[in-house]
Amino acid sequence: MSIYDRWLKVRDNIERACAKSGRRPEEITVVAVTKYMSLEQMQEVFDAGLEHVGENKAQDALKKWEQLGHRETWHFIGHLQSNKVKYVIDKFRYIHSLDRHSLAKEIEKRASRHGLSIPCFIQVNVSGEASKHGLHPEEVESFIEDLVEFKHIIPIGLMTMAPHVEDPEQTRPVFARLKELQLRLQGKKYPHAPLTELSMGMSNDYTIAVEEGATYLRLGSCLMGR
Ligand SMILES: *Cc1c(COP(=O)(O)O)cnc(C)c1O
Repeated sequence: MSIYDRWLKVRDNIERACAKSGRRPEEITVVAVTKYMSLEQMQEVFDAGLEHVGENKAQDALKKWEQLGHRETWHFIGHLQSNKVKYVIDKFRYIHSLDRHSLAKEIEKRASRHGLSIPCFIQVNVSGEASKHGLHPEEVESFIEDLVEFKHIIPIGLMTMAPHVEDPEQTRPVFARLKELQLRLQGKKYPHAPLTELSMGMSNDYTIAVEEGATYLRLGSCLMGR
């Protein structure tokens, strides 16, 4: 099966999950996670009509960007070291992994030098797994309040990674809790933080994430195949 055929299947599944939950497919942006893909496979992704690509390692991503970049919209989805911000800031349109003040400070510094405003997702460790990055849900509110001083960061939403489980249904409470947190924070009406987006759902669990309100899906293996 080609990447294009897999994408058709994925799109079908998204449409079905939308129908089930009273949502519209247009509300959802698919970020094709290309971290394990060759340049040829990435070209197939673009040819299939996918315009958003996600990478999680700065060095690998930059090499690919040099070859393929420019036209597509690039998302940085992995843990971001502060000393790498200067390399990614003017190439990646979105950052999905803002999870600490020191990183925000560095993004602010670099973005302001380039005259850019960077839409960022605040990464939340909803499941509490020690292996996962992200803020504790209770820390998010004060973190967002502190971001007000950073004029070049737009906190557009929250991001989480669900635990890897056999039965994707088990991820539902994690996604539901991120949605709940979003609604609570939106209720505060922060002028600097729209928080309208939810980046959640990967190959294993994206239909559940759609049902629970995801607006950005990060999909790798279900497009690439194994
Ligand atoms: C690799 C990765 C994904 C995609 O995972 P798949 O299971 O291959 O869809 C999504 N988000 C992040 C942060 C990743 O590192």
